[in-house]
Amino acid sequence: MSDYFQEMGWQPLGEGQTPNQLLHFARLLRDFGMWEELGQNQRLPPAASRQVVENLEEKTVTCKDDKCPVCLKMCSLGETVKVLPCKHFFHPECILPWLHRTNSCPLCRHELPRDDEDYEMYRKEKLRAKQREDEIETLHNSMFS
Ligand SMILES: [Zn+2]
Ligand SMILES: [Zn+2]
Repeated sequence: MSDYFQEMGWQPLGEGQTPNQLLHFARLLRDFGMWEELGQNQRLPPAASRQVVENLEEKTVTCKDDKCPVCLKMCSLGETVKVLPCKHFFHPECILPWLHRTNSCPLCRHELPRDDEDYEMYRKEKLRAKQREDEIETLHNSMFS
């Protein structure tokens, strides 16, 4: 791991530094093989449901060897972390932006429930487009037949 950081010219985070989310996402994607899997035309699964994310279980760190897999920083005793249903846990500031992009655990790809809002919107939009087409056809027929 340190080789990789050196190779990329990256420094491990110092005390009080916040992780560069995009950098860490890229590293996670690469390290867990999601990068290859994504290919060119595929996307990550949609974001996790907002409600699920807001109600994620929390726990207090009781073992100082616990490490957040996103930023690779050791957790401090007494720190609150977010626990996913698969029992993997992360700093809130590390996992929340991730879950706004995709609903799967960065470590084991366990999928969280998600809203189907996007899909619903897409479906309604298609329906509306179809209705417009029908209207135009009706109009056309009434004018030219
Ligand atoms: Zn973290
Ligand atoms: Zn997991």
